[in-house]
Amino acid sequence: MSREEMARRGWDALDVLLVTGDAYVDHPSFGTAMLGRWLEANGYRVGIVAQPRWDTPSEVLELGRPKLFAGVTAGALDSMLAHYTAFRKKRSDDAYTPGGRAGARPNRATIVYTNLVRQAFPGLPVVIGGIEASLRRATHYDFWTDKVRRSILLDSKADLLIYGMAERAIIETARRLEATSGDEIHAEALWGIPGTAFAASSLSRACEAPDGPPDTDVVVLPSHEAIAADPKELMTATLAIERQVRQAAQWAVQANGARQVVFTPPARPLDTAELDALYALPFTRRAHPSYTEPIPAADMIQFSITSHRGCAAGCTFCSIAMHQGRRLRSRSAESLEREVLTLTRHPDWAGSISDVGGPTANMWGARCRANPEACQREDCLWPDICAHFEMDEAAQV
Ligand code: SF4
Repeated sequence: MSREEMARRGWDALDVLLVTGDAYVDHPSFGTAMLGRWLEANGYRVGIVAQPRWDTPSEVLELGRPKLFAGVTAGALDSMLAHYTAFRKKRSDDAYTPGGRAGARPNRATIVYTNLVRQAFPGLPVVIGGIEASLRRATHYDFWTDKVRRSILLDSKADLLIYGMAERAIIETARRLEATSGDEIHAEALWGIPGTAFAASSLSRACEAPDGPPDTDVVVLPSHEAIAADPKELMTATLAIERQVRQAAQWAVQANGARQVVFTPPARPLDTAELDALYALPFTRRAHPSYTEPIPAADMIQFSITSHRGCAAGCTFCSIAMHQGRRLRSRSAESLEREVLTLTRHPDWAGSISDVGGPTANMWGARCRANPEACQREDCLWPDICAHFEMDEAAQV
């Protein structure tokens, strides 16, 4: 996005600046585009800086200081996965970059971009999110260095980390900062938003805050130091976080030296009407016109449709449930039909839809007939399909 584009919209300043490690593709499969459109639909002026240089803040400065905050994401992939293969060899390409070229984003992009924003706009609140921040929100095993790393919230020194799907949390963040606009912003203003993590000096300090956790019933995860000393503690922490995501009701906390990383309960997933509204936003389904080379990931998904979110399975090798959650949420059939019609009118339409689906298997329309908050199972589908798991395959046809 450029200053000229802001001027064309009659904007003299932005409310929110989003910085991403992917090229800018205005498509609902790209989280930054999705959140940009969602914020805009909720009344905020949003600018996107895609794949900025990281040796100087000059490109981050281009759109000016935003009024509320900057949101930072590494992009659709963890930046280390984007750069290295499972054999730790450097990749020669990057599907999220024009021309498919590798090297357009830094390693550990969330941390690097956060520092860049800090240099460009001292004192501006920085919120991190996306898959890299979400899956590194607590102490975790870093395959690339074969070491246990602490929460990316502490390494980046961001003010807030949004985990999972960010629509509710990002709007609440904007509203809270809007309410404090003009006043000195205290980090506590962002504490307590569902689906986020924040750092506090102590758990009791966090509990005293107006939107802090209850002083009982907080899941205490093994500390960073305990996990570093005994890797088995990582499994204890991971299972507790998975339970927190699954039951979606509890707070959790993890000590790291003198700091506590506090995790609020997951945000309530968007319901069918909200998903329908989100996917009806006016995405152009094209890369930004400034690009002169094709973006492989954009070509592949240009005519794909997202029908639902979440996955009911609890496969241990997969992180989808940790990010999107186990509660399935589906768009209405009417909304999907409207999107098909929109696609057929697109100037690039070539006559076929590449796929209709969600993050994993086709679970469109499936739901839990019981109370998932009280559920103790780690998987709706294994070792047998839960009697409360309902799926209408006739409707899918
Ligand atoms: S009760 Fe059954 S369907 Fe519902 S969340 Fe638990 S395992 Fe899944």
